[in-house]
Amino acid sequence: MKPREPRRRTMPVSFAKATNTGRVRSSNEDALFARPPVFVVADGMGGARAGEIASGEAIRPFEDFTPAAAPEAELAALIRAANGRIHEMAADDEERSGMGTTVTAAAVSGDSVGIAHVGDSRAYRWRGGELEQLTEDHSLVGEMLRQGKISASEAETHPQRSIITRALGIEPEVEIDTSSVDWEPGDIFLLCSDGLTSMVPDQEIAAIIGGKESLEQAAAGLVDAANTHGGRDNITVILFSPGEDETTVLSSVPEEHHHTGSGGFRSRLGTRTGRALALALAIALLTGGAWLINRNIYYVGAHGGYVSIYRGVPVDMGPLSFSSAYSISTIRMDDLEPFERERIDRHDLRSLEGARQVVDNYSRQTDRRRQEQDSLGGGSATDTAPSATATGGGY
Ligand code: MG
Repeated sequence: MKPREPRRRTMPVSFAKATNTGRVRSSNEDALFARPPVFVVADGMGGARAGEIASGEAIRPFEDFTPAAAPEAELAALIRAANGRIHEMAADDEERSGMGTTVTAAAVSGDSVGIAHVGDSRAYRWRGGELEQLTEDHSLVGEMLRQGKISASEAETHPQRSIITRALGIEPEVEIDTSSVDWEPGDIFLLCSDGLTSMVPDQEIAAIIGGKESLEQAAAGLVDAANTHGGRDNITVILFSPGEDETTVLSSVPEEHHHTGSGGFRSRLGTRTGRALALALAIALLTGGAWLINRNIYYVGAHGGYVSIYRGVPVDMGPLSFSSAYSISTIRMDDLEPFERERIDRHDLRSLEGARQVVDNYSRQTDRRRQEQDSLGGGSATDTAPSATATGGGY
């Protein structure tokens, strides 16, 4: 093995980090890497430990990385390589199918901080009490915000704010955003997963950073705040400050590659929605203004009073349409039991095959009830008899 040239960093960079499972999830699928001057946060998703594997793969290339000038291009190259690897791993293994991860990487070099990212983990610069977001979220809500369809405050509380539109591992190639910003003495940079930003408003983040004695206290304070607000997701934060002597600001946090977690999976669409569908949705939307509904997402809903299969996602946003009727069955909604109608109104996302199974199932149920009624001479012999005799049925 060839010895690597150990390039000394020219700049002291103090930092602190914290990661926490939160109060709802059973495992932590976030990953972080913090070794000055390189800092990375990744937020993985996928079943059977796949999310953990994906986020771990996303931070791994940075362990051997020493940035040169304008490091954002190098960061992007490492992310691109990680994307290919995660994608291959997902393709090779059924259990890992559909796994993915966000990644937000930053490296201090000279007077600037280079940033590269994919997904909705964020980078911020805190300067003089003001927090400036340095990354654009690759998320449904982020896209709506950029198109002026919703306000910043609406975005912070939007129910779909966790749906991402770009992630590592989903496709063989990934588009990576890069940028570079300057730093001044006293600036504090924050990298974080959405478990912080979906829980804690920017103003409160800024106040916590500004109000603590040390970066370490601030990192712990941010995690505490996310948990106080509900802790509905894994929370990961890295704070770093170029030009500070790390021994004076922070002495107890060693450089470390940190990764925790032991399975479970993150469904960004809610508990009833499968990971594959969450990821299908993640790639369903092309950023850059063009909206494309992935053809592999379906749900069962009502169309003109009939049980129907829709293609797309049941998101209704003013003039934007995200779904269309794919097929309409002959099963009348009126022939279903109330609990069945409620179930349909939930609009759970499914594969086409899954949606067809649901419709077939309702078809069998209504057929069975009609036969029961026929055999009873059309009478209402049971206390939960259907309210009407089906005229349709089948699919
Ligand atoms: Mg998250």
